[in-house]
Order: sequence, then structure tokens, then C-alpha cells
Amino acid sequence: MSEQAEIGVVGGSGFYSFLDDVTEVTVDTPYGEPSDSLFIGELAGRRVAFLPRHGRKHHLPPHRINYRANMWALSSVGARQVLGPCAVGGLRPEYGPGTLLVPDQLVDRTKSRAQTYFDGEPLPDGTTPHVVHVTFADPYCESGRQASLAAAREHDWEAVDGGTLCVVEGPRFSTRAESLWHAAQGWSVVGMTGHPEAVLARELGLCYSSLTLVTDLDAGAESGEGVSHEEVLRVFGKNVGRLRNVLFDAVAKLPEKRDCGCAQALGGMDPGIELPGLLD
Ligand SMILES: [Zn+2]
Repeated sequence: MSEQAEIGVVGGSGFYSFLDDVTEVTVDTPYGEPSDSLFIGELAGRRVAFLPRHGRKHHLPPHRINYRANMWALSSVGARQVLGPCAVGGLRPEYGPGTLLVPDQLVDRTKSRAQTYFDGEPLPDGTTPHVVHVTFADPYCESGRQASLAAAREHDWEAVDGGTLCVVEGPRFSTRAESLWHAAQGWSVVGMTGHPEAVLARELGLCYSSLTLVTDLDAGAESGEGVSHEEVLRVFGKNVGRLRNVLFDAVAKLPEKRDCGCAQALGGMDPGIELPGLLD
């Protein structure tokens, strides 16, 4: 029982290190190894599996993360609702450092990442996934979004409700021209890790939503030297305790019984392989 969870959080040791009775669980998947072990503990009466997205030593850059294994691992221990907090750059002057934004749309500008479980390659058990196209018009679970927004409100942190997260390949930051272009499209924030997490969760029938913390104004939205890694770390460090409190309250607010359509993502299509989620 201690190795099962109902909720997954993709986030580092800053989130789970002080929970009581954390069980470390190693999970292997048909798509390779996740970023790290899962750390499963209890929070507000809910079993939560934490997965350090970049590995516990933060050794994996965004483009080297095995997103497929990460989502599969969370689903295989029973997690059906996943929160994916991430650090982002603000694309509008009003979204300065310390802004919390709960996106309702995303734009994928990644280049080299495996984006589907259904790519026709046989799995180690000999089964081969069928071709499946999931609906992704609304990439985030609305129940998860509302839980995060309500939690932020309780901590007097008025989160921006909705907006578009543009996910770039990285690991470099954007040029000024790219940044101005992203902003001109009307997109809100830019990050490197929110995708393909979102679509992979959808393919497994998981509820997934993100919670973005602005650590800097992106190159085109400010007039200084551009984004630096040190500044991102400084702002993230300053806000991580606050973000953790919001995240924990969001976990507590997630519905015990799912009331959304996320589990029906495949719409009755036969995936051809045995998936760890979807059934409940
Ligand atoms: Zn959902």
C-alpha cells in the first residue's frame, strides 16, 4: 500500500524532503528509466508520488528528460491526477518575477522529444502500439487548474487564471527576436519542461495541469541583459517555499473522485498495448 499513490507531482526535493515517512520506489517502464525514483508520502490524507523531473541531483537538462518514462512511472503506481509545476519566463511586462500563472493553453516549440507512446515501435514485451490520435484542444485538466487557483488564493497569491505556456527546446534561453515573436503571438509565458509531459499524461488518461512560476522577464519583454541562469535560480529559491505551500493545498483540493473527461482520452480506441492508467 505504501508503494501506491493517487496523485503525482513532478517536482524536485524542495517539495518532498520534509514529508514524514517518504518511501523511495524504483520503477522501470517499457520506455526506459524515469528521471529518478518516485518518493511517495502522505499529504493532507492523500498518497502523493513526487518525481524529481531533472533527477535528484538536477543532472538532466530539459531535452534529456525521459518524459514518457516519467508519466508512465507515475501512472503505474496508481497516480491519476498529476500536477506539473515549472519555472518560466514572463512574456509580458506585467508578468514579472514572482507571478504565478496557471495556463489553459500551450504551444509546443520543442524539437527532439518523444511525444507519444503510440509510435509503432514494439515494446520489450513484444506488443506494438496501434496508431492513436488523442484530442488535445484543451491540454490541461480543468479540475486540476481550479485546485491550483483556489490554493493560490488561500495563500494571498493571486494567480493569473489562464494563458498560454510556450515550451521551447532549450537548454539555451530565447533570442530577443524569438522572445518578441512569442510575445507578439499573445503567448503568456515560456518554459522548457511543460511539454511533452502534458500530452503524454493525456495519452495515459491522466489528469494533468501545470502551475508556472515566473522567474524572469524573457529577453524581449525587458530592456536589460537578457535571462541568466543565476537570476532564475535566485528567484526560484526565493519563492519555492511559497510555491510548495500552494502546491500542497492544491493536492488537498483535487477531487477524490475524478469528475472530468481525462480518463476517456482514447475514446474507446484500442491502444494495442497495456497502459498503466485509463481504467479508473
Ligand atoms: Zn481531469
